[in-house]
Amino acid sequence: MHSVSAVIDAIETKKFGGELSDELIQGVVEGYTTGEIPDYQMASLLMAIFIHGMDYGETLALTRAMAESGKTYSFPDCVDKHSTGGVGDKVSLTALPIAAACGAPVAKLSGRGLGTTGGTIDKLESIPGFSFDLSEERFARQVEEVGLAIIEAGDLAPADKEIYALRDTTGTVDSLPLIGSSIVSKKVATGAGHLLYDVKRGSGAFMKTTDDARRLAELLVRLSEDLDVRASALITDMDNPLGSAVGNALEVRESFRLLKNEPVPDDLTNEVNHVATRLLELKGTTDAESAVENALTSGAAYEKFREFVTAQGGDAEALEDLPVSDEVNEVKAPKDGYVARFAASGIGSAALTLGAGRARKGDRVDPGSGIEVLVRAGDRIQKNQPIARLYGERQAERAERLVLEALDISGEPVEPPPAILDSL
Ligand code: URA
Repeated sequence: MHSVSAVIDAIETKKFGGELSDELIQGVVEGYTTGEIPDYQMASLLMAIFIHGMDYGETLALTRAMAESGKTYSFPDCVDKHSTGGVGDKVSLTALPIAAACGAPVAKLSGRGLGTTGGTIDKLESIPGFSFDLSEERFARQVEEVGLAIIEAGDLAPADKEIYALRDTTGTVDSLPLIGSSIVSKKVATGAGHLLYDVKRGSGAFMKTTDDARRLAELLVRLSEDLDVRASALITDMDNPLGSAVGNALEVRESFRLLKNEPVPDDLTNEVNHVATRLLELKGTTDAESAVENALTSGAAYEKFREFVTAQGGDAEALEDLPVSDEVNEVKAPKDGYVARFAASGIGSAALTLGAGRARKGDRVDPGSGIEVLVRAGDRIQKNQPIARLYGERQAERAERLVLEALDISGEPVEPPPAILDSL
């Protein structure tokens, strides 16, 4: 069907809550990607979809059409993971080298951070020389030789790139079928045969409740399986930041400590070990838990990370002491009590204020800025005890205020929330 008539048909159908045929969806995706369909028509259709939703068949057709809108890769033996995004989420930086060190090759597509949510690309770019500019051949060779390679979307799923940018400016991001098809289309185009979705819920996540996170997780797994990717999902807590470090170089430093088997906060260790184990299980590894432990205690995971950094042009020696901002301010507890919550949303906003993230696409990130969270939910604290260290020159006073607002102190002992809330 010609794309200009397809989009008019699609708008007329969806504005009354009707069902879009596969052919109509295919025509619209093709037409928008080639530029034949203008933004105003696509925006109108997206708003109709936002209001009336799409059933599973429509969502699958949209996912397939977006996945096939550009180049597609195929790495059927590889694993990949996708996080819906959080504050201090360095699970990709750590669980993937562990999985690769255990013999599960990783071919991964990553994104940049937006708003309070960090992105793996920004984190790795804090390593001097690190580059994501890999040709398809070099990407495939690195997967084969090193067992771990990460690229930026580039030519993969270009329809999603265009549609996501339009959704971002037309109030149509938070629609379950649009989020699900957007995420899965990119993953299917990258071609890893085994996928683990880490769907975060809580103040610092897209999904605020466990029920909403479960709905998204179910959709991601079902779409992936129907597009021939073996998939499973975890629902994890993002009410509090994960681990201690928030900000690009700080997070790489904490990840490197974990990979060297040095102490890091328990919530981070538990989640990373769980994710690495699940990735290996997806690949059919027996006794995956022991394999993960061995990779950490033997130094194999740490060596794998260094090898991966070197292969992508990064200076592995710099990892030992990655530069962070010299401008450091400590924030102190305002009173005695127990930490009920150190809200991820507030910590994320404070890190953004310091320059660790971007409020708008294209903003410049300061890789050495961010926050070290020094207390966790459940900890007993005393007045004037340091609770966080702020790194960076931009708006430090505002960041301090946001950090203090993020801290909930209870007079009663508090049970910290579990890191893993559910799995499917
Ligand atoms: N992440 C994506 O890749 N797409 C969405 O629609 C939302 C989050």
